[in-house]
Amino acid sequence: AKQQGGAEICFYSKNINSNLQERLELETDLHNALNNNEFQLYYQPKVDLLSKRVVGAEALLRWIHPQKGFISPEQFIPLAEETGLILKIGDWVLNDACHQAALWHRSDMSDIKVSVNVSGQQFKESGYIEHVNRALKRSDLPPSLLMLEMTESLAMDNVETSIELLNGLKQQGVGLSIDDFGTGYSSLSYLKRFPLDELKVDRSFITGIPENEEEAQIVQAIIAMAKALRLSVVIEGVETEAQLNLLQLTQSDLIQGYYFSKPLKADQFEAYARTMNDE
Ligand code: C2E
Ligand code: CA
Ligand code: CA
Ligand code: CA
Repeated sequence: AKQQGGAEICFYSKNINSNLQERLELETDLHNALNNNEFQLYYQPKVDLLSKRVVGAEALLRWIHPQKGFISPEQFIPLAEETGLILKIGDWVLNDACHQAALWHRSDMSDIKVSVNVSGQQFKESGYIEHVNRALKRSDLPPSLLMLEMTESLAMDNVETSIELLNGLKQQGVGLSIDDFGTGYSSLSYLKRFPLDELKVDRSFITGIPENEEEAQIVQAIIAMAKALRLSVVIEGVETEAQLNLLQLTQSDLIQGYYFSKPLKADQFEAYARTMNDE
């Protein structure tokens, strides 16, 4: 029995070692990814529910690893956060997205707003507002065409600090959005104190619609609450026509999801927006 146990332990630690090694490898590669130009931003259309016009895009980060190929942000963003690399990566995302938004602004897509995801570490870094300002100045982008998305757990982590920071960002003229709404714990009274422009209802509330009556009612309630706070509402993860039809009956403003489009390369996004908006 002793020997059996020994073998198990050996097998187990081998597994840990290979996982650890894989992680270390990925971490080293992540260090070099910026210098090697392995990151790319994709843009997912945000579509106005009534007019069906593309009014914005969410910038979503992609890592194209030279050997491993595509690595999902769900995999490398947590690693980037743990290692602190998210600060440099996040700054790159901010600058690249502003640059792209400014190009669109100077083309025939002058009103397209670009949303960027902000991680907790960036937000807490002293000088975050200056980082945002620098990116705006460098690209010569009107601040109103940039939106910053942060999750509710990020904003609720330290409410007083968040309020101060968000007020500072608001003064610069950028849009502020609460992401993945409904997945954390938010208290209404706090949300009211944040200078927000937009609330994004998490995909998990949409998946059961229209079959699930309860979910549909929860979404209705969230939308009503957001409207009472004068927030624009984005429904994330809309995949089917049935979902869209049900949302048609609500007061939601924007739809983002595979039903309209997956995240696209910048030039594909342009083509998509032109087709949708020229009709
Ligand atoms: P998120 O901010 O909630 O972004 C939405 C995610 O849902 C994206 O996944 C998008 O591709 C996916 N999605 C959109 N519509 C649908 C749909 O109809 N069905 C389904 N099943 N999925 C849909 P993605 O691009 O894999 O990004 C995952 C997460 O990684 C993001 O979630 C965000 O938290 C994080 N992330 C991505 N880019 C960045 C970034 O530049 N900075 C930071 N800090 N985080 C990022
Ligand atoms: Ca987001
Ligand atoms: Ca989200
Ligand atoms: Ca999410």
